[in-house]
Amino acid sequence: MSSTFRAVHQVARPDGVPGAEHFAVVEHPLPAVEPGTALAENIYLSVDPYMRELMDEEWPLHEPLGFGRAIGRVVRSADPDLRVGDLVEHGGGWSTHALIQHGRGRVIRPAAGVATATYLSVLGATGLTAYVGVREILRVQSGEALYVSAAAGAVGGVAGQIAKLAGAGHVVGSAGSAAKVRHVVERLGFDAAFDYHDGPVADLLAQAAPKGVDAVLEGVGGDHLEAAIGATREFGRIAWVGAISQYNRPDRPPAAPRNLYAVSDRSIHLRGYQVRHFMHLQQEAVSWLTPHLQTGRIVADEQVVEGFEHVVEAFLGVLRGDNTGKMLVRVGEE
Ligand code: NAP
Repeated sequence: MSSTFRAVHQVARPDGVPGAEHFAVVEHPLPAVEPGTALAENIYLSVDPYMRELMDEEWPLHEPLGFGRAIGRVVRSADPDLRVGDLVEHGGGWSTHALIQHGRGRVIRPAAGVATATYLSVLGATGLTAYVGVREILRVQSGEALYVSAAAGAVGGVAGQIAKLAGAGHVVGSAGSAAKVRHVVERLGFDAAFDYHDGPVADLLAQAAPKGVDAVLEGVGGDHLEAAIGATREFGRIAWVGAISQYNRPDRPPAAPRNLYAVSDRSIHLRGYQVRHFMHLQQEAVSWLTPHLQTGRIVADEQVVEGFEHVVEAFLGVLRGDNTGKMLVRVGEE
């Protein structure tokens, strides 16, 4: 094994849309494996929209980022819970190797027929976010109508599939291209979808769900949230999971939603949530989702970019909508 590893550093704070110039790849000596730690060689790295928010403050400058989900294989261990050879999911961020502190890694033993990468998508935080939204917060019932924004993305695609399995009668998605619209209907089983570039989101949603919807999983914010509120029936529920349309301009308040009073007027339950507050449901979600993956009733929709040198580009691509499904980067052999 080499005595060094590579890590992505953030080298400047962005003002608006980030670019490759805000990052650099830096070589470091491998850390010592002290008692209670283990060294993993990474195989898959996750790139996610929330990382744009980390770029404004939480990610340090000029040092390894230290936060970001990844799966690696343990290559040295002084932690009794992690054996050399174990696959482990951890939060060590964009690097080729990670030192995992005791209790901070989840050992993964892939179920039959389930790929390792899926433990960062449907069986990772992405799937848990969708599971919590649809089953814990919205509690989608048989026959109900649901709207999902960013439907061709990681969380949205899983959410629509879970809702169909829960018996939802009409699941509508929005996405950013005609190809994505086809994908969510033909591959993921949504009942209808539209490209939000084709007109005002509220009009397009009204055409796709003329009688309105009972529940919404909303991850875009702005005009998408406004359209969601507009389409939600009396006593309906909205799980507001994110606002990707706003992440590049946190200094500018969004122009929408302008119809917030409808939440009160129609007794709508609008609930925001963060998956980190629902980690106690992770095992339940994995147990529920795994058999559906094994039988093919849930598709693990992943886009895997090859090579550590492409991690920044993959991340920037998620912010632009280049991805279909969960964007992952393969940085090592399994
Ligand atoms: P994702 O959907 O796989 O990727 C983001 C997608 O957002 C892009 O593919 C793009 O697809 C769409 N997008 C980007 N800019 C947009 C814009 N201005 N307007 C409309 N759509 C835009 O990512 P994800 O991980 O599943 O996250 C989706 C949302 O859920 C994000 O807001 C994220 O922050 C949130 N989230 C929240 C939690 C939580 O704990 N609360 C956890 C995970 C994710 P199109 O081509 O369709 O535009």
